[in-house]
Amino acid sequence: MQTKYVLDEADVPRQWYNIAADLPSPPLPPLHPGTGEPIGPEMLAPLFPMELIKQEVSQERWVDIPDPVRDAYMLWRPSPLYRALRLEKALDTPAKIFYKYEGVSPTGSHKPNTAVAQAYYNKAEGITRLTTETGAGQWGSALSFACNLFGLECKVYMVRISFEQKPYRRSMMTTWGANVIPSPSDQTEAGRTVLASTPETPGSLGIAISEAVEEAASRDDTKYSLGSVLNHVLLHQTVIGLETEKQMALADAEPDVVIGCFGGGSNFAGLAFPYLRQKFDGKDIRVVAVEPLACPTLTKGKYAYDFGDTIGMTPLLPMHTLGHQFVPAAIHSGGLRYHGAAPLASQLVNDGWIEAEAYTQVDCFDAATLFAREEGIIPAPESSHAVKSAVAHALAAKEEGAEKTILFNLSGHGHFDMSAYDAYFAGSLTDYQLSRADVDGNLSSIAAFPDVPA
Ligand SMILES: *Cc1c(COP(=O)(O)O)cnc(C)c1O
Repeated sequence: MQTKYVLDEADVPRQWYNIAADLPSPPLPPLHPGTGEPIGPEMLAPLFPMELIKQEVSQERWVDIPDPVRDAYMLWRPSPLYRALRLEKALDTPAKIFYKYEGVSPTGSHKPNTAVAQAYYNKAEGITRLTTETGAGQWGSALSFACNLFGLECKVYMVRISFEQKPYRRSMMTTWGANVIPSPSDQTEAGRTVLASTPETPGSLGIAISEAVEEAASRDDTKYSLGSVLNHVLLHQTVIGLETEKQMALADAEPDVVIGCFGGGSNFAGLAFPYLRQKFDGKDIRVVAVEPLACPTLTKGKYAYDFGDTIGMTPLLPMHTLGHQFVPAAIHSGGLRYHGAAPLASQLVNDGWIEAEAYTQVDCFDAATLFAREEGIIPAPESSHAVKSAVAHALAAKEEGAEKTILFNLSGHGHFDMSAYDAYFAGSLTDYQLSRADVDGNLSSIAAFPDVPA
């Protein structure tokens, strides 16, 4: 039986798939927080290059991948698709389990798929510097790597607590030539304000975003880059699913269930959107997004207009949200601790095309450890949510005696997250759950915002 399905470099996709062209109901626009009116490109122009703004609103089904981006993809793409034969055996399930492995990228996750494209378009429009924020360091690493490829300066505002606790992610960014500074810093108005009132603050992603955006908006040579949530980011990630469709054909298999972990939605969408296209055409596929019970945006949040950031500097986005002031518990899946969700994915959840599931972190580490012992690869804590769901679906198939085919995205490896595994082995992980009352309390902060049309 074949274990892995690998493609040639010639099979790296030449176009990204834009799901906006095929949505069963039209996408809702972002709104200006002051006027409540749809925003135009001019509001985004200080932060993003024109080509990415065009992709953000594009209705074209296929978008060409520029050759320099495709050449950069060749460094690690096509990524392998595996059949999890040993895991199937350990679970004694009649289900077939396949996983697409994005941990083979230079930074260890799917994030360079968009970082490389974003760096390219900024460079092409004469920009010389990018700013961004990073929490655990996955996104900061990806953008540092991509900026270095295209000769751009990269400045990463890294949440102070992570800066201190994750020195090796910082070292990676420095290796690729980025300037990494702890946030809040004294280099921006936003940072100085926070430091004046709370000098000992551990920082937060919300503050780091504010710093990165402020710097980009105030300099002509600098733009800002975001690693998830926005339409153009999801677009770039579809190389994952487009390759997987070819690899599943090599395996002579078609998925009954397609699964991805969900933070802002980019790795999930990357695998799932090409399969949703098949589902729109009538194919019987379940598409499942998996999130932490400690940050249950899709399963317990409200579909409403809300800010993308904590401080309230972005346009209002139509999305599932726990309220922009929600601060998730300190679970180890840093990449899944986001109050909102990609608008494209939110709409598809709302319309019933995507199902959502939520699990505790201990359940996810149980599944990730089983996976590592059977398949060898140690999943990132974020990816462990997809592993947990795949195991649950495989066990359900066993219960039903059904020969289901399960496909999931293994979005990254956990080599820089071993302290989380240590905490799990020591039995010191806490399982957080959010009550309805907690969620409703947070959502009161957006009660006055415009409603999404019913
Ligand atoms: C950042 C990250 C995620 C979460 O982000 P999405 O945009 O939801 O994909 C998931 N897995 C890994 C390995 C990550 O680094």
